[in-house]
Amino acid sequence: MSAYDDLLAPLDLGHTTLRNRVVMGSMHTGLEDRARDVPALAAYFAERARGGVGLMITGGYAPTLRGTLYPGGSLLVSSRQAHRHRQVTAAVHAEGGQIALQILHAGRYAYHPFSVSASSLQSPITPFRPRALTSRGVERTIRAYVRCAELARSAGYDGIEVMGSEGYLLNQFLAERTNRRADEWGGSTRNRRRFPTEIVSRIRAAVGTDFIISYRISLLDLVDDGQTWDEIVELARAVEAAGATLLNTGIGWHEARVPTIITQVPRAAFVALTARLRPAVTIPVIASNRINTPAVGDQLIRDGVCDLVSMARPLLADPGFVAKAAADRADEINTCIACNQACLDHAFQRKHASCLVNPRAGRETTLVLRPVPPQRRRRVAVVGAGPAGLAAALSLAERGHDVELYEAADEIGGQFQLARRIPGKEEFAETLRYFRRRLETTGVKVNLATEATVEVLGSGEYDDVVATTGVTPRLPAIRGIDHPSVVGYTEVVTGAVRVGARVAVVGAGGIGVDVAHFLTHRPDLTIAEFEAHWGIGDPAEHAGGLVAPQPTPAQRQVHLVQRKTTPVGAGLGKTSGWAHRANLKKAGVELISGATYDHIGDSGLHLSFDDGRPDRVIDVDHIVVCAGQEPNRALADQLIAAGMTVHVVGGADVAAELDAERAIEQATRLAASL
Ligand code: NAP
Ligand code: SF4
Repeated sequence: MSAYDDLLAPLDLGHTTLRNRVVMGSMHTGLEDRARDVPALAAYFAERARGGVGLMITGGYAPTLRGTLYPGGSLLVSSRQAHRHRQVTAAVHAEGGQIALQILHAGRYAYHPFSVSASSLQSPITPFRPRALTSRGVERTIRAYVRCAELARSAGYDGIEVMGSEGYLLNQFLAERTNRRADEWGGSTRNRRRFPTEIVSRIRAAVGTDFIISYRISLLDLVDDGQTWDEIVELARAVEAAGATLLNTGIGWHEARVPTIITQVPRAAFVALTARLRPAVTIPVIASNRINTPAVGDQLIRDGVCDLVSMARPLLADPGFVAKAAADRADEINTCIACNQACLDHAFQRKHASCLVNPRAGRETTLVLRPVPPQRRRRVAVVGAGPAGLAAALSLAERGHDVELYEAADEIGGQFQLARRIPGKEEFAETLRYFRRRLETTGVKVNLATEATVEVLGSGEYDDVVATTGVTPRLPAIRGIDHPSVVGYTEVVTGAVRVGARVAVVGAGGIGVDVAHFLTHRPDLTIAEFEAHWGIGDPAEHAGGLVAPQPTPAQRQVHLVQRKTTPVGAGLGKTSGWAHRANLKKAGVELISGATYDHIGDSGLHLSFDDGRPDRVIDVDHIVVCAGQEPNRALADQLIAAGMTVHVVGGADVAAELDAERAIEQATRLAASL
C-alpha cells in the first residue's frame, strides 16, 4: 500500500502492461540530434526507467527531412539511424521500462526554408513561408510516417507517439486557421481530419497489434479559428477507430499567446477538458500540463479525470519521482518549478536541455556524484544556505562527505525565499521543502542564525570551505538615494515595508520585472481567475477556446525604469519572458527605457533623456531599487588569507547575471569534483 495507489496501479493495454500510470511526456533534449550523443541519451532515459516511470516518450523525430524542426534536427528515416536507437531501447528495457518514439513533423513551425504545411501560410513565430503539400506530397508524407514507425519498431521501441498537437503539421491540417485546401485533405471537418487518421490507421496496419500507438491530440488550440470541441471529439473517436492505443492530450499551439505550462499556470489547470473527452472514447486518456506532484496525479486518476498522467519536466527535475512516491518518500522529490529556464529555454537556444533544480539532467554521463570511499571522506563547511550553498551541501553529503552548513538568517533559502513570494512563482517553496528534507535525510548539520567567521571556521576542523555567501543588492549612486521614499527590493518582497499605491522601480532586470509583478498582481489565482485573466474560454462555445481577456485589476500604479534603450524585459527567458511582459502590460505598468536618473527628491524620481524626450518627474510614494548585485566576498578573502582551502561559488563568485541555474550547476560541479 502506498499513498498513491491509483497513480502506481498497473495499466493493461491488451498486448502489454504498463507498470504504473506515469508517462514521461516528450521533451526535446537536443541529445536526439547527433549520433555522438546517443550514449548520453540512453543514460538519460535509463536513469528515469530505473526510477520507475511507466512509459517514456522520446523527443520528437521527424519522418521526413522537410519535417525537421531545424537544419540538423532529429530525424528517423533510415535503418542505419534506427540501429543507433537500439542503445536507447536496450538501456531502458534493462531497467524494466518501456519507451515509445515520438514522430513529429514540424510543418510550418520548421525553422528552415524547406518547410511544408497544409496551405502556404506563414506562422507568426517562424520567418519561413511553407510550401503547401501537393496531394502526392500528402501521400508521400503518410508513407514516411509509416516508415518511421516501422523503423522505431525495428529499433526496439515499445511504441510510437504521433504528435498531433501544439500546432505542428497535423494540427495545421486539422484547423481551418491553417488549412485552406479545396481537395480531399481540406474543407469539411471530415476532410481535415483525414490526414491524421490515415496516418494512424496505416501505421497500425504496418506495425501489427502488439505495438503502442499514442496519439497526441490538441484539446484546446488557443488560437483564432482553431478546432471546435465537436471536431476534437470526432477526431478522438476517429483516431481510436484507426487503431490508437492511447490518447495523450496537448494544450495550446506554440504560436498561442496564453501561457500553458509556466509556473504562473495553476497546477492541473486544463484537466477539465481531459475529463470531458474521456467518456467519448474507450482507450486510455492521458492528462498533461502542470501536473508536478504524485498527490495531484493520484487525485486525477482517482477522480476519473484520466487514466494516466504525463509529466515531462518533473522527471527531468527528479528521475526518482516514481520510486520516491512508491516508497512514501514524496517529500524527498525534487519538484519541477515550471521555470523553463534550463529545459525549454535551452532547447529554443539549441543548447542541450537540463534542469535548473537538477543540473545532472541530460548530463548523466558527465556530471556524476560518485560515492567517496571512507578514507577520502572530507570535512566540509558550506557557508550560506541560498541555492548554491544548498546544492553544494546536499551533493557533497550525497557523495558521503561530512558536511556542515552555516546560514546567518534563521531559515534556509536565500534568494529563493524572495522568489517564492512573487505571484506565480510559489513553486519555489517546493524546492525549499526538498532541500530542507534532503539535508535532514543526508545528515548535513545545519546551523541557522549563525554567522560563520574566521574564528568559527578556522579551528582546523574543516578540510574545505565552500563560500556561497551570495550577493548584496547594489545601491546606485543617484543623488537623493537616501531619501525616505527609497526602499530595497528585499524589504518590499518580504513585507518588511508596505509600499504605497504609486511606485517607481529602478532597474528592469529579472528582479525589477518580478517586483513590478509582485506590486501589481495577486498571488494564487484560481483556475477560473487565471482563465479570465488570459481569455481562455470553452472550445465548445468558441473555436480554439479564445475569449476576450478580463485581466485581474492591478494593485498599484507602477513605473519600471531602466537606462538601457532596449525593450524592458528583453533579457528574460525565451519561453516565459513574453508572458511576464504581457502581464506588465495587462497591469498597466509604464515601461521607461533610456532614462538617466537625475535625482530623487520629495516630488519623486527625476528622469532625463538624451533622445529629445523632455525631463520628467515620476510622482510616487516609493522608489524600489532593483539595480543588480555586488558579490559578497569578504569572508572568503579572510579565510584564504588565513590559509584555508576555500571554494567560492554562486553570486559570491560572479554576481553579474547570476541566476539560480548557474549557481546550482556550479555548486553541483564543485561537489562532484571534491
Ligand atoms: P540584473 O538582471 O543584472 O538587472 C539589474 C538591472 O539594474 C539592470 O537591468 C540594470 O539596467 C540596472 N542597473 C545596474 N546597475 C545600475 C546602477 N548603477 N544604477 C541604476 N541601475 C542599474 O539583476 P537582477 O534584476 O538583480 O537579477 C539578478 C539575477 O537573477 C539576474 O541574472 C536575473 O536574470 C536573475 N533573475 C531571473 C529571473 C527570471 O525570471 N528568470 C527573475 C529574477 C531574477 P540598466 O543598466 O539598463 O539601468
Ligand atoms: Fe522544471 Fe525548471 Fe527544471 Fe525545466 S528547468 S524541468 S521547468 S525546474
